[in-house]
Order: sequence, then structure tokens, then C-alpha cells
Amino acid sequence: MTETYKLYAIKYGTHDPRPQSQNFMQPPDPHDAPYPIDYFVWACVSENRTVVIDTGFNEKSGCGRGRTMFRCPVGSLKLVGVDPAEVTDVVITHMHYDHGGNFDKFPKATFHIQDREMAYITGRYMRYPVLRSSFDVDDVCLLLRELYKDRVEFHDGDTELFPGLTLHHVGGHTQGMQFVRAWTERGWVVLASDAMHLFANWRHKNPFPTVLHIGDMLEGHRKVARLADSPDHVVPGHDPLVMEMYPAPNDDLAGIVARVDVAPSKPTPA
Ligand SMILES: [Zn+2]
Repeated sequence: MTETYKLYAIKYGTHDPRPQSQNFMQPPDPHDAPYPIDYFVWACVSENRTVVIDTGFNEKSGCGRGRTMFRCPVGSLKLVGVDPAEVTDVVITHMHYDHGGNFDKFPKATFHIQDREMAYITGRYMRYPVLRSSFDVDDVCLLLRELYKDRVEFHDGDTELFPGLTLHHVGGHTQGMQFVRAWTERGWVVLASDAMHLFANWRHKNPFPTVLHIGDMLEGHRKVARLADSPDHVVPGHDPLVMEMYPAPNDDLAGIVARVDVAPSKPTPA
């Protein structure tokens, strides 16, 4: 039977100042004005199940790249009642340093990844600094260790992970990028992760510049939109607007956690 999920976007970091040329292939403003982005992990919680989406960066890899880390992305799952020590399923949308670190902090988890992502991060394209620079080799090694402990589950394309929770491959940003769609009280919500970094990438058909294949990235935006019940059901992976649009579970968590399974209080930017 389809399960209904509560969805939490947990903000653990930010990159500010950041010029908009780092967010768009064709920067809309010739002055390259500041355009900060936020870093999130997500938790999908039903009556019977908890699934964590992405595991965030650690202090070394995030701060080494000039990012601000407000809180440990794994430890902050406790803010929404999720104990990382008990989590059994973690979806890794892709292995960039800000999404696939900290595996050692999930002692009971199986990590769900696309075949094509594992092939990508251990294959020929990693010979090129422009493609490998968004990965941290220590994270890749940690993932291989989990594989050899039988803690990695592979997926090839689109699949139902659990009733009410599906995984969808898109290319573009990386070779094995996947996003998550979850059934909620308001219908199908897509947690796009880096299949769609910012609403504005989608709105202006102007992709994020960290990209393996531009055409696949643009097609990925379409796939995200197609699988969500409406534009208001799309949650991008790095947009600071998410925190403004969606309510916090309680006043203490304002600006830290957003409930994205409930309707946004502001409409999705048109
Ligand atoms: Zn990212």
C-alpha cells in the first residue's frame, strides 16, 4: 500500500558570497551580482519508514571549499526526530562532495545509488580535473568500503524504492544523477536535488554550470516538472527560496528546517 510521507528539507550550510556566474551557464547580470546558495539534506518520514536523501559535506571538504557549515548535516537529522544510528535507507542522489559524504555516520544504512554514478566516479572521466573537482576522493573511498560491506544497493534508471517513494535517473549534472519523488498529503512532491539546483535554472532554461551534459540537464528539468503534481510540488536542491516558501515544523526550527510536504505559503516563482 502506498505510504504517505512527511518531507523535511534541513539546511546545513550556505555559500555566501557567491557570484551568480557560478549558478548559471549564461549569467543574467553583466555585473555578476552575488547569488548565494544553500546546502540541504532531506528526510522522508512515513508511519513505517524513514528514508534519508543525501548526507552532506563534512567540515574538511565543505570548509576547504569556502562553504559555511552551520551544523553537521547528519547530526541535524535529530532536529526532525531521525536518529542517524538507526537509519536503514539512504538515497545518494549523486556523489558530489556536498551530497555524498559522511557515510561512516550511518552504521546501519544501505546506500542507494545509480549504476551510472558508480561507474562515473570510478571511471575514465575522473581523469579530468574539471569533472572530478566536485568530488572528494575520500567520499568515493568510503562508498567503496560500504560496497565491500554489502551496504550499497544499485539502481538502473527509474524504480520504486518503497511504496510512495520512487527514484528517477537523469543525466546532466553527473552521469548517474537521480532524484526522488514522494507521495504526500498534497500529492507527488519531487525532491529534485541537483537535477534542478535553483528555480531560476528551470525558469530561464539556464542550467547550473557544473555539468557533464547540458542537453541532459535541460531534459532533467523537464522530467522533474513532469513527475511533480504541479510546479508548486518541485523542491530544488540548493535554492534559498525553499526556506522562505515553506513553513518550519515549529518556531525553533525557522530558517533551519522546512516542511515541503505541505503547500508552500508563497507560490513557486513564475
Ligand atoms: Zn549540490
